[in-house]
Amino acid sequence: MRGPVRSRAQVSRAPVPAPTMPLPMRGTRQHCSFPSRPRPRDAPNRYRPFKRTRARVQLTFISASTCARHRATVEADRRGHDPMTARFTVLASGSGGNASLLEFDGFGLLIDCGLQPRHLTARFRSVGTSWERVSAVVLTHTHTDHWKDATLAELRARRIPMYAHPQHYAYMERASSFASFRAAGLAREYGDGRPLELAPGLRCLPVRVSHDSAPTYAFRIDGYDGERPEPAWAVGYASDLGCGSPELVAAFTGVDVLALEYNHDELMERASPRPKFLVDRVLSDLGHLSNKQAAELTATIAGRSGEGFPGHLVQLHLSKDCNTPELAAVAGREALVALNPATEVVTARQDYAIVPITLARRPNAANRASARVNRPAPKRRTVQPSLPGFDDW
Ligand SMILES: [Zn+2]
Ligand SMILES: [Zn+2]
Repeated sequence: MRGPVRSRAQVSRAPVPAPTMPLPMRGTRQHCSFPSRPRPRDAPNRYRPFKRTRARVQLTFISASTCARHRATVEADRRGHDPMTARFTVLASGSGGNASLLEFDGFGLLIDCGLQPRHLTARFRSVGTSWERVSAVVLTHTHTDHWKDATLAELRARRIPMYAHPQHYAYMERASSFASFRAAGLAREYGDGRPLELAPGLRCLPVRVSHDSAPTYAFRIDGYDGERPEPAWAVGYASDLGCGSPELVAAFTGVDVLALEYNHDELMERASPRPKFLVDRVLSDLGHLSNKQAAELTATIAGRSGEGFPGHLVQLHLSKDCNTPELAAVAGREALVALNPATEVVTARQDYAIVPITLARRPNAANRASARVNRPAPKRRTVQPSLPGFDDW
């Protein structure tokens, strides 16, 4: 599972077939797809890379969808799909539970696992995938909307490893399922600013962020297709943070998909009937990003990323009481209108998955600015969670 990533020189340079499908026009529905190839029964969740072929280039229209039309789209697109095409899907986002799936070359990376197993099963099904396609989990932090004891037991049963910070595991020792999970050798570690080589061509960089569950991490995930030394695509994922930082901006520079928390509207938060300590917590640098803060961070990242980047803004972790998808979407679009008006804005929801976003080298890849730092953020004073019942608003 943790075999070293091939060096750039080792990655196949064999001729690759030209794309065979027409590029979707902007504004048309994205035909997302990923092959359904069951694993052998005797090797559940064992990573088996597909033969490397050139990824299709697709620029896409994305919208959240809940309905049969969404499922029909996913099902229809499972036919004739290039296995090298990666896709990113937010399965659920918000204080009720968080999970996203990144699929690449047969490797499925679950980012957080904050839903009960049966709910994750349903979300997988809704986007045409399943547990059998999950190869590993990477954890942002230990608030319980990002992991569940029962889900840890499910990972143990399916022998799916998790990558987390050692302090996360120290916190998780209270969970009934953790001892057996660790005994099975599935608790793997990452550290500040140390890239994880999860699979050939798939690299994940943890970036520490400010949040009241220390430590909390954002991730930059790069995919390499072997054609060029720089990544073919990149995703920046930051779901819980009270403020941005120069390190985060630098790490997220040039991503194709910027997945960023747009938690609350500040006025709605202040006017809410929530207890004052909770409002203060949300608004603090250790809490969550407001729409305004997130928009400023979005503009800063987009301003450094090169023309046409990011291609998608995915808005995460909206408060159900103190935000609306419309307010978040307006804030996101306004942040990008002067810098990159073509960016697709997708507002992730709690109750259903977004339509998967296709990841591949884009025609304007030469415009991409590269991430500039790879060092840990300075330590901040943080406090540990939490008051019972107030895990993560
Ligand atoms: Zn949190
Ligand atoms: Zn959270």
